[in-house]
Amino acid sequence: MLCGMFGYRCIATDGKARLGRLQTPHGEVETPVFMPVGTAGSVKGVTPDQLIAAGAQMILGNTYHLMLRPGAETVARLGGLHRVMAWDAPLLTDSGGYQVFSLAHMRKVSAEGVTFQSHIDGSAVELTPAMAVRVQRLLGADVIMQLDECPPSQADRDTVAAAVERSARWARLCRDAWQQPLEEKRGQTPFSADACHSAQGKYQALFGIQQGGVHADLRAASAAALVELDLPGYAVGGVSVGEGHEALCDVLDATDGQLPRCRPRYLMGVGEPRDIIAAVIRGIDMFDCVLPTRNGRNAQAFTWHGRLRLRNARHAEDAAPLDEMCDCYTCRHYSRGVLRHLFMAKEMLGPTLVTIHNLHFFSTFMIAIHEAIAAGTLKASANAWLEAIYEGDE
Ligand SMILES: [Zn+2]
Repeated sequence: MLCGMFGYRCIATDGKARLGRLQTPHGEVETPVFMPVGTAGSVKGVTPDQLIAAGAQMILGNTYHLMLRPGAETVARLGGLHRVMAWDAPLLTDSGGYQVFSLAHMRKVSAEGVTFQSHIDGSAVELTPAMAVRVQRLLGADVIMQLDECPPSQADRDTVAAAVERSARWARLCRDAWQQPLEEKRGQTPFSADACHSAQGKYQALFGIQQGGVHADLRAASAAALVELDLPGYAVGGVSVGEGHEALCDVLDATDGQLPRCRPRYLMGVGEPRDIIAAVIRGIDMFDCVLPTRNGRNAQAFTWHGRLRLRNARHAEDAAPLDEMCDCYTCRHYSRGVLRHLFMAKEMLGPTLVTIHNLHFFSTFMIAIHEAIAAGTLKASANAWLEAIYEGDE
């Protein structure tokens, strides 16, 4: 336990795979955990009650989107991101860095930070390590992330090495900002908070982010620089940017030796079931991805027997649920044929119902992983699951 309100405890292991508990000011999370993504203050199309019913324990908000609209100060004045999202459970925000490097135009990176053009109104925006921390303290999530530079997967070694160096420097600056009291007076509303606390007065854990692409030595150097800062948690970044499954496994093979076992480990942006399993087997505890929600909105349902594309004509008169093994709200009340009709008729309930099912599938998938780790059977179980999940894809 790092402080009274935040910490990680390992309960059981199966090889390098860990069953654990993450304690946060907004409650405890059983790990490995999958976090649905609430991009701009909502998990698209579903209410918090539906999220909870679908088994979500912890969710993620995107700093980039929230700082541009409605703005971090506005979120703070509305009571913080937990209040804005009507979500009283654990919450994590990213630093905004990933979206700056993937969405924004006219980026300019320097040792101090990054300036970019907002994709909403074209205005110039600056983001420094200290600002990324300040914004996240105004938002008020339980876990906040350092600003990092995430180069594309095809970047050459020199570019990746420069990103590692810059990200390590930014990690230190983020740590310094996080350890300062937050005290500002903007307009009528004063925001003040002790060191390591949000504008809402709750402890926040700062995670560092390892970079280094597919280069083992750069990954090791990046991890070493972060571990020196003794942060509450560590993330593996710069993957899921097109490097492929084998390269991801190679990167993660070294993780257990590079990041401390007493701290949670978060693999950013990963959500393919085969990648989640490979990462859990290599000691990762936390995941986030838009896959269940984005695919749900596009009429694609995850099942234990493969992905269904509900727009396919063969589902038109199918009275079966999405998955006979699923007890989510959608599977208890709607058939494949009805769901297909809702999508064809462009009814907004269709995306909501398939999102609920997909989120439930991911929660169930993680619970199955927990049980297999506890039983010491993860690798054997995982092989059988993945074969069925990927062989049945439409
Ligand atoms: Zn279902």
